[in-house]
Amino acid sequence: MNQTELDQLVEKNFKYYKDGHVADYIPALGRVNPKQLGVALYDIQNNAQMSAGQANVRFAIESISKVPVLLLAIKDRGMKAVFEAVGAEPTGFAFNSILNMEINHLKHPMNPFVNAGALMTSSLVKGDTDEERFGRILSFMQELMNDDDITLDNEIYESEHATCSINRSLAYYELGNNMFPFDKDVEEIIDVYCKQCSILVTAEDLSRLGALLANNGVAPWSGKRLISQEAATITKSIMTTAGLYNQSGDYSFHVGVPSKSGVGGGLMVASPQKYGIGTFSPALDKDGNSVAGIHLLTDLVRDLNLNIFE
Ligand code: GLU
Repeated sequence: MNQTELDQLVEKNFKYYKDGHVADYIPALGRVNPKQLGVALYDIQNNAQMSAGQANVRFAIESISKVPVLLLAIKDRGMKAVFEAVGAEPTGFAFNSILNMEINHLKHPMNPFVNAGALMTSSLVKGDTDEERFGRILSFMQELMNDDDITLDNEIYESEHATCSINRSLAYYELGNNMFPFDKDVEEIIDVYCKQCSILVTAEDLSRLGALLANNGVAPWSGKRLISQEAATITKSIMTTAGLYNQSGDYSFHVGVPSKSGVGGGLMVASPQKYGIGTFSPALDKDGNSVAGIHLLTDLVRDLNLNIFE
């Protein structure tokens, strides 16, 4: 893949933004310009990064934050404690559904990439206060994506916090069922969760997070191990089964690479041993996934032969 081919992929797939809508259930996200598409490709073997379109525009990481927060929870508490508190099964329900826990009389949320599970992993991150816990999440994200400019967007955070009644109900349901093993201060957990979703990143940042996972936990830019190999492997497997909300099965079927989406319009891909990929295009389909981003990834994965099932 050369620069011209990557530019052409952006030109070809840009038009699909028209088939989606920006997330407006969080008012600050509703104000984002839908006419944007960017892609960044991190080539692990050659330690080289290439990008096209709006790959440097900052946008809210949203659900993709569930990946670094899971990794930090594993680092802080160990694999066993984390996966006693949260499962690894896809839910078949919307990302913010309470039903899966209720119907199955579960003792823990079903996976770390639905909101109930992400509230749980946020509660597992160590820190005496919510400021300290959030500060650790922010620095960890800066380290994993090799970008010190990753920051919190206060306007998005306030908008999230003012409209997070469903997340609040999930957290109280978990509290009422005695699911939180450590921190049980629900308002503090919600606050940290809303903040982690409101962190601004670029498609280039996401390509580095993907590259780190694809390279089994060693940062290709420094050769330094940032997360354990086991954490990288498990995270990629859950991305494959639950990374794209209710579209995870179809996406694995048609595209076939471990990926995680967010309602800010980002997609982060870890193509084992080969590439990290980040895309950004804020217009979403009915499941909450970036329409132009998925079209572009479908082409890119086919052109580079990255389908892990082939
Ligand atoms: N802050 C969003 C929420 O919990 C994140 C959702 C997402 O990206 O899926 O509603």
